[in-house]
Amino acid sequence: MRHNIDREQSRSQSEIIWIGKAAAAGALICYFPVMTKSSWRRRIERADELRERHSFASEILSFYVQIAKFQENLHREFASAPKEDSDSIFNALNSGDTARLQSRFGSFLSVVEEYGPATLVALSKQLRACETSWSELLTEAWGQPAPSDVKTILTQAFLQPFAELLRSRTKIRPAQQAYAVCPCCSRKPSFGVLRQMGEGASRSMACGFCLAEWDFRRIVCPGCGEENDSKLAVYTATDFDYIRVECCDTCKTYLKTINLTKNGRAEPLVDELASAPLDLWAREHGYAKLHSNMLGM
Ligand SMILES: [Zn+2]
Ligand SMILES: [Zn+2]
Repeated sequence: MRHNIDREQSRSQSEIIWIGKAAAAGALICYFPVMTKSSWRRRIERADELRERHSFASEILSFYVQIAKFQENLHREFASAPKEDSDSIFNALNSGDTARLQSRFGSFLSVVEEYGPATLVALSKQLRACETSWSELLTEAWGQPAPSDVKTILTQAFLQPFAELLRSRTKIRPAQQAYAVCPCCSRKPSFGVLRQMGEGASRSMACGFCLAEWDFRRIVCPGCGEENDSKLAVYTATDFDYIRVECCDTCKTYLKTINLTKNGRAEPLVDELASAPLDLWAREHGYAKLHSNMLGM
């Protein structure tokens, strides 16, 4: 064990325990889960459940629920719209889609202003005051693979349902590669998922923007391709015993993987948001998140 677990336990309020090294490798197979209304409902209901259970996550999940309800409606609107101008691809929005998205951005800002934390409320009001720049903002945010500024992260949360819709209409298979990149929008994964596969479990990576999910070998760092299992540490915590903090000591990145074989009720996107104490623990240990989630955490 290479970390002073007890000392960190008091800081993070989570008991972090070593659970071993990454498990057996698997084949790279891409699949695209179909987004349905019930999937949105499941996320919202899971967020409601978790915010009751985890007081530390209550504020962020309450905000997420409102964002998700807006996203659900936006997804439905665009899914039912005529497809003649929906030929946007993941490296560029076309002018028709940009204009339609722009017409809904003000409603999104209203949700942020009503339910968001103070910093986002202030940002939202700033954005509302410069409506003439929305088109440029949406276009730039769409093409930004790894935003670090809050304005772009917030704008990508608005764009996420449209990215998810385009992904559901896209047939792309990933190339064999040593590190993980979304086969649709070329972003790094925001989280991983473990699912039952025969006697064991298979790991997949998930894009936080278009929500593509693709299988990825278990003994490989998704950030740098490291395959030496002595460099790939996995941790879990008593509060979230179904969430693995998968760290790489070569590139010093981590991502959280939701183990559905341990908790079949989890909604990976939502449970990843709810487990913020694990992010705090990882950062305290010198690891950087491979890619932030939808809310920039
Ligand atoms: Zn993607
Ligand atoms: Zn690495």
